[in-house]
Amino acid sequence: MAGIYLHIPFCEKKCAYCDFYSVANSKSKNDFVDALCKEIVLRKQYLNNEKVQTIYFGGGTPSLLSPNQIHRILNTITTNFDLENKLEITLEANPDDLSENYLKDLYKLGINRLSIGVQSFQNEYLKLMRRRHTNHQAIAAIKNAQNIGFGNISLDLMYGLPNLSLTDWEKNIEQAINLNATHISAYHLTIEPNTLFDRYFRNGKINLPTETQSLDQFKFLIDKMSEKGFLHYEISNFAIDGFISLHNTNYWMGVKYLGLGPSAHSYNLSSRQWNIRELRGYLDGILKGELVCEIENLSKTEKFNDYIITSLRTIWGSNTKKIKQDYGDEFQNYFLKKSKKYIQNNMMIKNGENYILTSEGIFISDNIIQDFLFV
Ligand code: SF4
Repeated sequence: MAGIYLHIPFCEKKCAYCDFYSVANSKSKNDFVDALCKEIVLRKQYLNNEKVQTIYFGGGTPSLLSPNQIHRILNTITTNFDLENKLEITLEANPDDLSENYLKDLYKLGINRLSIGVQSFQNEYLKLMRRRHTNHQAIAAIKNAQNIGFGNISLDLMYGLPNLSLTDWEKNIEQAINLNATHISAYHLTIEPNTLFDRYFRNGKINLPTETQSLDQFKFLIDKMSEKGFLHYEISNFAIDGFISLHNTNYWMGVKYLGLGPSAHSYNLSSRQWNIRELRGYLDGILKGELVCEIENLSKTEKFNDYIITSLRTIWGSNTKKIKQDYGDEFQNYFLKKSKKYIQNNMMIKNGENYILTSEGIFISDNIIQDFLFV
């Protein structure tokens, strides 16, 4: 079982908080699709014939691709990889790209999960974030997608925004729930270097929430989502029963994945690999038949740490049997010793061989995870 991630590196303009790799030059889209299809063929052995269970179009803005371009990419994957019958195919989309005709085409192509970058249902915050769409466009896109038959719709929301009040945050969550989203990913704003928000922050143009305000927004989110029947299955992710993201869950569970396109990362259980973060270099290299990536072979300690970083974020937690099997007694003893104080302080619970963060633990998960890392 494995996953394929496709990084589509185009955005019409840069959002104020974002440091994902993308360029505005949409003239290169056809060349990019040529190169991506070529990279799919060049790297078809990477997953060692394991069946592909999930395909994820991320970016950038995958919804800037035409239906024909998406069709070509999917066809090339189908020809070169062994696919599960029941395949999860996600496409990240900007609300203002999702016209009725475009949605119909996506549906026909077999895209069965949409991840829509709503971020906020309030125009004031959308403007502040430099998003392209309006509240009205987001609502229309979601409703159109549902009418066309998309049953699996995830919405991205952002909190911890400058001046975001708890009341405004509540309205956002309510709106997402009222629109019958089946999955919500909610991320706290992080000020990334060299973004517009970074500049604003350094020039004193925006104020960030205090730690207490951020925590209140996070707590409110967790309570509201659980009250509405969503499973909080990863720190930032909530799903209605049967709608967890298979692609991301596999990633947190340490399943192999192949990342294609500039800046995409891959993992095959023994090494990590990442493509260069530059479109021109990517196109030149791949079109000549050369891979444009760096590879890092992982030591046992790095693999253990990766497992902790990903598994402790989830509702399933870290499994001590797996730790013993994959990393040996030393790492299992280390884990058990570390876990004692967190269990005593109600930050962690033990369920059989699984060690899971409690809601108290989740609030300080970054610190706990850091403490578990083997150095
Ligand atoms: S948030 Fe999405 S749409 Fe905005 S710049 Fe980043 S990748 Fe592009």
